[in-house]
Parts: sequence; structure tokens; C-alpha cells
Amino acid sequence: AALIGKVMAARQRPLAAAAAVPSVHRSKRYDVMVVGAGFAGAVMAERLAADAGKRVLVVDRRPPIAGNAFDRLDDAGVLIHQYGPHIFHTNSADVFDYLSRFTEWRPYEHRVLASVDGRLMPMPINRTTLNLLYGLDLRTEDEAAAFLASRAEPVEVVRTSADVVISAVGRELYETFFQGYTRKQWGMDPSELDKSVTARVPTRTSTDDRYFTDTYQAMPAEGYTRMFERMLDHPHIDLLLGVDFAEVRHAYAHDHLVFTGPIDEYFGHRYGKLPYRSLRFRHETFAQEQYQPVAFVNYPVEATPHTRVTEYKHLTGQRAPNTSVTFEYPSAEGDPYYTIPRAENQALYKRYEALALAERDVSFVGRLATYRYYNMDQVVGQALATYRRLAARWAHDAGA
Ligand code: FAD
Ligand code: UDP
Repeated sequence: AALIGKVMAARQRPLAAAAAVPSVHRSKRYDVMVVGAGFAGAVMAERLAADAGKRVLVVDRRPPIAGNAFDRLDDAGVLIHQYGPHIFHTNSADVFDYLSRFTEWRPYEHRVLASVDGRLMPMPINRTTLNLLYGLDLRTEDEAAAFLASRAEPVEVVRTSADVVISAVGRELYETFFQGYTRKQWGMDPSELDKSVTARVPTRTSTDDRYFTDTYQAMPAEGYTRMFERMLDHPHIDLLLGVDFAEVRHAYAHDHLVFTGPIDEYFGHRYGKLPYRSLRFRHETFAQEQYQPVAFVNYPVEATPHTRVTEYKHLTGQRAPNTSVTFEYPSAEGDPYYTIPRAENQALYKRYEALALAERDVSFVGRLATYRYYNMDQVVGQALATYRRLAARWAHDAGA
């Protein structure tokens, strides 16, 4: 991909400030402008260029590509994830095969421990967790299921993120593992959040301590950024990085727009702001080989300000004398990282979605543009489907 106006951030280079758009390119016209170089934008750009032969301009307000999946070598030479830890997992062969064109993989099964009263125990809650926490000796799935059933509190209609957990494991385990973490992460009680949030985390009666059970679980062998570089490396794709869409939307003529930023921003917040949750990341390097036994340690206690600590070497398999970790501090202010699943937010999104559906020459794709708490693989699947629909429509229009 040609880089115009802005140098693609090299992985070791500090992030540079935005540069002016060179006027020499102002006259260039594109078939499609893509706003956002994250999974949604990169997949759309790659398909549009490589499959449909379109000329594509990708614009991102951040200097690096890869959106929230951006990774880079830090000062200690350790590969870290700048915008929070990203673990790839999917049940979709289509999504996995598609991404496999741009990367090799390192098999990796994610394991998480929760820090409770100074002790580390498996999360999701499994039989080992119960035995450790209560000093029990539950030996079979039936015994663990019976134990959980004795504590579970029936909830007539499971509606909220509190209902999901309390109806499965009871109030005490809910308070120990979910309530504090969720209050920190979302700035509200689980009882105020849609059930889909904590339903992401299962409860197990087995001793399986993997966080995910998907068919495909692996990390891009050379990191996410390298994978994105390969996706965007096409003669029909130009990149404009460190530049906001608002600055260039009229500077480059285009027939179609793919927008992957926040949908309420696109429409000038005309119905009011959609709520997003943000995070502050504290990246640290320690002069020791290992910091913690697994990639994630979660801190469910409300008094501890961070939610989790990630040690990257477990994800990447990198060997180095030092190790780098990231502490996550949830915040109301900052970049929009998480949509907030609640009925009233979904209702507001639906009003914006109605506006979006009326824009025939704009495709809204991705986590922020469709206001969905999507994992990476879901965004890739959504982008591939959006591209197929768009290509079919163009083919139909051309034939008509
Ligand atoms: P983004 O990656 O957010 O990309 C959107 C891009 O658009 C950004 O680069 C932004 O700068 C740009 N943009 C927005 N507005 C404008 C504008 N006006 N002008 C120019 N550019 C603009 N998923 C998993 O599968 N596994 C995980 O372990 C995982 N961990 C996560 C951890 C954290 C902390 C977070 C926040 C998310 C995690 N995710 C994980 C989800 C994953 O990040 C998303 O599914 C995926 O990155 C979404 O891709 P996207 O392209 O929709 O959005
Ligand atoms: N959660 C929790 N305790 C944990 C892990 C998760 O309460 O130890 C809740 C919390 O509300 C979190 C949600 O479950 O936001 C989804 O967890 P997941 O690990 O999927 O969050 P993500 O990786 O998307 O931040």
C-alpha cells in the first residue's frame, strides 16, 4: 500500500503526530474511502481491492494500523498490545482461513486466574475454583453441579448481568468473582447491564481451565500489526494515517464510503451521544523473566483499581530476560473501547441505525459503527458478509 500524507508507524517507533495532507494527492479519486484501519476497515479494504479491483483510500485518525489490535515492540523489545490484550479465538473456519492468508499462527489456549484474598484461582469458575475457595474435594462433574445447584438462586426471568450469574452460582460466588469486577469495568452494577455481558463467561463443573473452548485458538505468529501490514499491502490501497475523516472527507472524491468509527459521531450526535466505556492502560516492564503464572490475572475486588494484568510473553511465546505487562484501569473518559450493552443504549443505536440504512453509499461496519460488543472474529465475519452483499449489489446494478 502506498503511504500518503503519513508514515505508517513502524512497530518500534513512537507514535507520531498527524501531518498535513499533501495537496499533490488532492486530485486523486478513489472508488471507496474506508474510515478506520482496524479489523473492520482492513478486511473491507483488502476485499474491495483484491477481490473487486477497487481503488481504496484507508483513513485512520491514529498513526498506527490495526485499530485496537495494534501491537508493537516496546523499549525492552517485548511485543505488547498498545490498546489492550487481544486473544484470537473463533469457531468460524471461514474467518480463520481468511486471516490465515495474512499470517501464520502460534497455537495458544488462554488461561485466566482470579486473585481472591491473595490466592489465585481459575476463572471461569470451575471445579478447581470451588475446591480451592471452599476447601472442598469435589471429584466429579455431578458433585460440582450439585454444589452449584445448592447455592444457585432461581431467577424467574434472566434479564441482567447479575441474574445470569446469581441464577447459575448463587450470590456469594457472584459477589466474589463478578460484582466488583463488573462495577469497575463498566462503572455500573451488573444489575444495570444486559445479561449478554457476564454471559460471555461460562461456569464449568469440569476442571477445564481454558477461558475459551473455540475450535480455533491461536495468536498471529508475528503479531497483529504484521498481519494487518500484509492485508493492506496492495497496489490499489493507499493509507492516510494520523488523519481524521472530518479533515479529508471532501478532499478525496469517492463513490462509496466504509465507515468503521462510532456511528453517533458520523451523524453529528444528532440524537445525543451513544455511551462507550474507556480504559487507561499502564504498560510496565520488569527486570525479571516472568511476572505472573498465566497471561491474565483478574482482580475482582472493587478496592483494587485495575481490573486485570496481562503478561504478554505467555501469549506470544517470546523469550526475553525482561517481561512487560499491562494494567487496565476502566474509565468514563477517553477513546471509545467498549459499547455498553443496555436496553436504552440499544434503543438509541436503533435510531442511528435507521439513519445508516438510508445511506445507500455508506457501509457501516465494525464494533463502533454497529454498536456491538463484538470480538475480533465476529468483526471479521461481519466485514466479509458486508463485502459480499456490497459486491453482489454492484454486480446486480451493473447488470441491470
Ligand atoms: P477498531 O479496532 O476500534 O478500529 C476502528 C478504527 O477507526 C480505529 O483505529 C480508529 O482510530 C478509527 N477511527 C474511528 N473514527 C475515526 C474517524 N472519524 N476518522 C479516522 N479514523 C477513525 N476481541 C477478541 O476477539 N479477543 C480479545 O481478547 C479482545 N480483547 C479486547 C481488549 C480490549 C481492551 C478491547 C477494547 C477490545 C478487545 N477485543 C477483543 C475486541 C476487538 O478489539 C474488536 O473486536 C476489534 O478490534 C474491532 O475492530 P473494529 O475495526 O470494529 O474497531
Ligand atoms: N467478568 C467478571 N469477572 C471476571 C471476568 C469477567 O465480572 O473475572 C465480567 C465483566 O463484567 C466483564 C464481562 O464479564 O466485562 C465479560 O468478560 P470478558 O473477559 O469477556 O471481557 P473482555 O475481555 O471483553 O474485556
